[in-house]
Amino acid sequence: MKIGVFALQGAFIEHEKMLSKLGAESVEIRRKEHFSDALDGVILPGGESTVQGKLLREEGLMAPLQEAILGGMPVFGTCAGLILLAKSLSNDENVYLGTMDVTVRRNAYGRQLGSFAAKLNFAGVGEYPAVFIRAPYIEHADAGVDVLATVEDKAVAVRQKNMLATAFHPELTADMRIHEYFLNMVKGR
Ligand code: GLN
Repeated sequence: MKIGVFALQGAFIEHEKMLSKLGAESVEIRRKEHFSDALDGVILPGGESTVQGKLLREEGLMAPLQEAILGGMPVFGTCAGLILLAKSLSNDENVYLGTMDVTVRRNAYGRQLGSFAAKLNFAGVGEYPAVFIRAPYIEHADAGVDVLATVEDKAVAVRQKNMLATAFHPELTADMRIHEYFLNMVKGR
């Protein structure tokens, strides 16, 4: 199984390590020629969505990625990756890929709570220790989007068909179950 990991900026190496522990191969995507429809799935890591979005555009990756996702390619976005997938942001005018029917609030937990850990209940996985870093949350999910986990009534993990997204960073904990969940989506395609 070959998973493309967007390596423009942010926490991509941690995803690659996780994939390798689970027996999946990762391919770093930095430029257009690294991306192909033949990949089994892609990961959009955490980091800074404005920087990542700008680089996706500059490298000519935005349109091919958007097309592949709409064509059914499995995608997993974490934190900034969730922001890139959202069809709208409630506190920012930018829209990047816009393929997922969710409205997301950036830096939603404010300065006081820049980073925190929370035990949540992830549908189909169970109790899960989640790490949040200047995290967004999902303010609104349209019909057709499944909310998989919440923290204090706010959705922090969602799935819509071939798209999985979390406001937290599953690549930063030792628990591999969310990546396993994604790889099962890839297998089931
Ligand atoms: N605050 C970042 C943003 O808006 C996301 C943070 C993260 O990916 N850890 O892009």
